[in-house]
Amino acid sequence: MSAAVEPPRAFTAEDYASRMARVVDQAVEVGLDGVVVAPGPDLVWLTGYQPTAITERLTMLVLAPGATPTLLVPVLERPDAEAAVGAPALTVRDWTDGTDPYAAAFEILRTEGQYGMSDATWAAHLLGLQRVLPGSVFRALGECLPMLRAVKGPDELERLVAAGAAADATYEAIVGLPFAGRLETEVAADLARLLREHGHEQVDFTVVGSGPNGANPHHEAGDRRIEPGDAVVLDFGGLMYGYGSDTTRTVSVGEPTQEVRDVHDIVRHAQQAAFEAVRPGVSCQEIDRVARAVITEAGYGEQFIHRTGHGIGVTTHEPPYLVEGEQQALRPGMCFSIEPGIYLGGRFGVRIEDIVVVTEDGGRRLNNTDHRLHLVG
Ligand code: ZN
Ligand code: ZN
Ligand code: ZN
Repeated sequence: MSAAVEPPRAFTAEDYASRMARVVDQAVEVGLDGVVVAPGPDLVWLTGYQPTAITERLTMLVLAPGATPTLLVPVLERPDAEAAVGAPALTVRDWTDGTDPYAAAFEILRTEGQYGMSDATWAAHLLGLQRVLPGSVFRALGECLPMLRAVKGPDELERLVAAGAAADATYEAIVGLPFAGRLETEVAADLARLLREHGHEQVDFTVVGSGPNGANPHHEAGDRRIEPGDAVVLDFGGLMYGYGSDTTRTVSVGEPTQEVRDVHDIVRHAQQAAFEAVRPGVSCQEIDRVARAVITEAGYGEQFIHRTGHGIGVTTHEPPYLVEGEQQALRPGMCFSIEPGIYLGGRFGVRIEDIVVVTEDGGRRLNNTDHRLHLVG
């Protein structure tokens, strides 16, 4: 059942060391004295370290020019931190329950420093650092280095390709199963099971939006029984080898109405036009505009109520965002969704989504299942 592909080469301490060095260079370029990273996707990407439970105890990685990367952890987490793949490139320091963790943090930060701080940091930790370092400034890393993880290397793309293929195999399998008469939650459970069967270690979402529920883009799956004639939005993904998948197709349970066919056609054209606009140098907002223009010209502009896409990597929603106002130019290796949709409140919705990677001269889809409206049973 699962694709017979070799698992990718595991990341090494050298891989993590070079990511950390790159981040320090970028931080210096934007005028920072360093970067403070809390548990979350940035820490995983930089070190391979993911604490088993993210607790109220302070854990932080400090990256600064001319200094060895330093990971401060609660003493009880030290063995796990030292077992992380990236650990050889780090100095691990610890603090003990009953002492002030921010005093320990004070030792490895500058008193009048400008730091970028990962977006996933708990507010309580930021406030603790501000208490001991009143002269230092902490800025949101997502604002000062938004494209930190946006350009994927070949070893990351390999994982995204595998995740995309597994999501495609999941779609091919789900359309062979019955829809009419089953609950959305039952189809969603099948999607989750299939993603795992095809190699995902984590399922993040399994949207099954049947009939009127399809008109709510973030409806997950509920206890509605799917009926003949429903349009059903299927949007699912998760992580495989630590990298994300995210794809959407809208299917019809039996014969669709002409309106469903028409709306589906418009969304398909919008998705195709946006895909064809992808190439290095084009801005993120331009991709959104291209998709939106097709839908607006067809008279459904008001019903396309979200941005056209989002980046994907060690998470399933991250920069770059394809949205009006985002002037970031596309660069080879950037990887994101293109997912226009039309939502007719109380009736039905249609969305089509592929993950796309920017190549030297265009874009390449990582989802390759048929875009045509598929009739399910
Ligand atoms: Zn979303
Ligand atoms: Zn999606
Ligand atoms: Zn998406």
